[in-house]
Amino acid sequence: MPLENAVLTTDNCRYCLMCRHVCPVGHVTRLETLTPHGWGLLISSKQRGLIDWTDSAVDKLYTCADCGTCQSHCVTDQPLPSAIAEARAEVAELGLAPANLYSLNEAISRWGNPYAESEPDAVTGTGEVALFVGDDARYLWPDGLKAALTLLRAVGMDPVLIGAGRNSGYLPSSLGFPETARRLARANLDDLQASQATTLLTLNPGDTYAFRKLYSERLGIDFPANVAIKEVTTLLAEHLGAGTLTLRRAGGGPPHAYVDPAHTVRVADRDAAPRQLLAAVMPAPAVELFWRRERSHPAGSTSLRFANPMIAEHLTYARLGDARESGAQLLFCEDAGTLSALSSKAPRFGLTIRGLYELLAEQLV
Ligand code: SF4
Ligand code: SF4
Repeated sequence: MPLENAVLTTDNCRYCLMCRHVCPVGHVTRLETLTPHGWGLLISSKQRGLIDWTDSAVDKLYTCADCGTCQSHCVTDQPLPSAIAEARAEVAELGLAPANLYSLNEAISRWGNPYAESEPDAVTGTGEVALFVGDDARYLWPDGLKAALTLLRAVGMDPVLIGAGRNSGYLPSSLGFPETARRLARANLDDLQASQATTLLTLNPGDTYAFRKLYSERLGIDFPANVAIKEVTTLLAEHLGAGTLTLRRAGGGPPHAYVDPAHTVRVADRDAAPRQLLAAVMPAPAVELFWRRERSHPAGSTSLRFANPMIAEHLTYARLGDARESGAQLLFCEDAGTLSALSSKAPRFGLTIRGLYELLAEQLV
C-alpha cells in the first residue's frame, strides 16, 4: 500500500527516544540532531512553520543513511525513513537540495546508474527465473555477479538477467527524486515482464526491500503479484540443505566473520542463509560482529555515500572497527555495495575483504 503523507510520522518521532540507540549515524556522529528523533523534530518543526529549509537544516536532512534500522526497531512501525525521503523530495522540488545531487539525479535519470555513462543492458531471452543485477553488482563488484551465476548454473538455473546496470530506484527515492525512482522502477518491471519470469532472484537485501516494499510504499507502484522474490543466498542455502548443492571445505585461514549487508534489517529472516553457506565451506566457525543480523548497521554503502560521503566513510570505519574488536581478520559479504565500501578502507584496519559468492563458487564440487 502506498504511504500517504509519510511526513506526518515525524509528529510521532520528534520526542521519542525508543530507537535512538540503534541509529548508526547517531553512533558515529554522537550528535543528538542526527538521531531519529532529531530528524523527526527537524521535519515536524518545518511542517509547523517554526523553521525554514536553511542550508544548515538541509544539510542535517541529508545526513540520514536511509538504512531502515529505526523503523525495524519501532514497535509501532513508524515509517521514519520514508518520511525523511518525502521531506527531501519537498526540498529538492524547491531547488534547495545540495547542488551535487541535482547533477547526480540527471545522470541517474539519463543512464540509470550513478557510475558510468552507459545504458542498462537490454533483456535477452525469456525464462521462468530472472536475476536482478542492478548497478552496484555491475559496476562496483562484477566478480560477485559472475560467481553468483556460476553457482546458479550449478543448481540447474540459467536466469534471464534484468536491470543490468540500472539502479532499483532506491537511490533517487532516498535522495528526494521520486519521479526518477518511478522511471527506474517501471523500467525494471518492464524488463521483468519481458523476461516472462515467475521468480525474481536478487543479489542482496537492498534490492529485495526495493521490490517488496519501497516500490509500493514510496513510489505507488505495484510489484506483480504472480512473481515470487527470493535472494540468491536463500535459494543456495535451500539447495545446500536438500543436497543439490555440494561444496567442499576450504583450507585453514585467519578468524573470519560475515558482515550483514546494508538493508538487512528491512528483510525478515534473510540473515541465516549466508551464514549457513559460509559455515559449509569454512574450516572453523565464524566470529560475529556486535552490530549484526536484526541490528546490523550499514557499511557506508547506502544513499549516504552520495549525500554525505564523510559520514558514510565513518560508517565504513565503524563496521571495520566492529570486525577488529570481534577478532576477525577476514570478512565476507555478498553485497557489491558493502564489499566496495569495506574494501576501500580495510587495509588501514589490517583486514581482508572477500566476496561470499566468489568463495562459494571456488568451493563448488
Ligand atoms: S521510528 Fe518509532 S521508535 Fe523511532 S523515533 Fe519514530 S516512533 Fe520512536
Ligand atoms: S534510517 Fe538509519 S540513519 Fe536514518 S534515522 Fe533511521 S536508523 Fe538513523
